[in-house]
Amino acid sequence: MALRYVSTRGSGAAADMGSFQAILLEGLAQDGGLAMPVSLPQVSLTELQRFAGLGYSELATEIISRFADDLDVDLVGRLCGQAYTAEKFGSTEIAPLTPLGQEQDAPLAILELSNGPTLAFKDMAMQMLGQLFEYVLTQRGETLNILGATSGDTGSAAEYAMRDKHAVSVFMLSPQGRMSAFQRAQMYSLQEPNIHNLAVDGVFDDCQDMVKAVSADLAFKAKWRIGTVNSINWARIMSQVVYYFKGYLSAVKTYGLRVGDRVSFSVPSGNFGNVFSGFIAKSMGLPTGKLIVATNENDVLDEFFRTGVYRVRAAKETYQTSSPSMDISKASNFERFIFFMTGCDGAATASLWRELAHTGQFDLKLAHPQAWQRVQASGMVSGKSMHANRLETIRDLDQRYGRVVDTHTADGVFVGRRYLEPGVPMVCLETALPAKFEESILEALGRPAPRPAGLEQLESLPQRVEHIGQDVAELKRLIAQRALR
Ligand SMILES: *Cc1c(COP(=O)(O)O)cnc(C)c1O
Repeated sequence: MALRYVSTRGSGAAADMGSFQAILLEGLAQDGGLAMPVSLPQVSLTELQRFAGLGYSELATEIISRFADDLDVDLVGRLCGQAYTAEKFGSTEIAPLTPLGQEQDAPLAILELSNGPTLAFKDMAMQMLGQLFEYVLTQRGETLNILGATSGDTGSAAEYAMRDKHAVSVFMLSPQGRMSAFQRAQMYSLQEPNIHNLAVDGVFDDCQDMVKAVSADLAFKAKWRIGTVNSINWARIMSQVVYYFKGYLSAVKTYGLRVGDRVSFSVPSGNFGNVFSGFIAKSMGLPTGKLIVATNENDVLDEFFRTGVYRVRAAKETYQTSSPSMDISKASNFERFIFFMTGCDGAATASLWRELAHTGQFDLKLAHPQAWQRVQASGMVSGKSMHANRLETIRDLDQRYGRVVDTHTADGVFVGRRYLEPGVPMVCLETALPAKFEESILEALGRPAPRPAGLEQLESLPQRVEHIGQDVAELKRLIAQRALR
């Protein structure tokens, strides 16, 4: 029987959400919870040994087919093969491991996850999502109109993943004049008729509010088959699990370790999707040392792992930083982690999120001491990196190793260095390329970031974007005109 998914806020039979294909497109339960597999498939050391000989898309097939087991394995293999090509990701390795050096007797390395079409790690999961959506929708004879808001990385990754799909269109709102010239050019230069770039006269939160307003109109949403690709989508989490296995096996090979030895990971974190995928990998049996949650000045997650208190921030308490993709006030995927820490107790999770809705915070130590004990035994630790830390880290890595990293990756390296253990490789996840955040690289190094070949002229390509006001009625009219039938 296929693996079932349950709501993080459900109890008993009411928690059931069906198998993978039932949760693929949405993943949000009626009770407001998020889809989680009822149990995690396990990978033995013998299997891990066998995985060492696989290429990225074969490895992805091994992992993904265990979560998406209502799809034929050969089909999953074909979709992975189409998602992870050398042409899209710049090398047959897809996610190469680059050793930096030895620090305090620990090998320090970078796992390159940002060589995809939009130069950020979100491509890794989004390309797979594009393949899965196209297959399942075509099979059902359906179409989907994706509506989203972006401040940069998510929107472009979604557009590049969906641009050549027939069953999907994308309506992406972005704040007029608030993205970098590079980010604008990346999105707005797409000419495919199923991609609709809408520049809103406002800030990111205004865009987000418009998306929420449209989604709240359930009749409209159903009529035009509106969907999302936001960070709570389970298929994104599942696809990200793969690169922890890849990073682990590459580290074992590079440093001459044995399968079974520990490897630590440091992860620049915002919505807690990436590092949570690492936690899933660990829970499936990957021999993981520390799993490090690195935050920027927006330290909601660091505060939790230090104190047990989860306190979401208001929009005006959310700082605009030089690692902007981590500027979050609450971490959407955190609910899945807490559900797991409560021993998959949907009633306990629902009660914590009710408290959160009323008071803006909860204290896990007090509310659920046993869950807090599990957090402390989970191997997850945290740290915070500020503007000066990340610039200093960018300079240091450039001088020491001749390697330029972006601001988010720098946050991960800065915090990761605090947790080095002799003999245990520290794999720092590269979540974007420096070319995407040019101003900060210029500030740190006094010279511009290197640009990948082929993108030198990006800003001079013709752009296709429509400007709209903060007007939900106007947005709905536009969707009704352009949506796929
Ligand atoms: C999205 C993003 C992050 C944060 O990842 P989460 O999965 O939301 O924790 C970090 N760095 C970059 C460059 C990103 O685009």
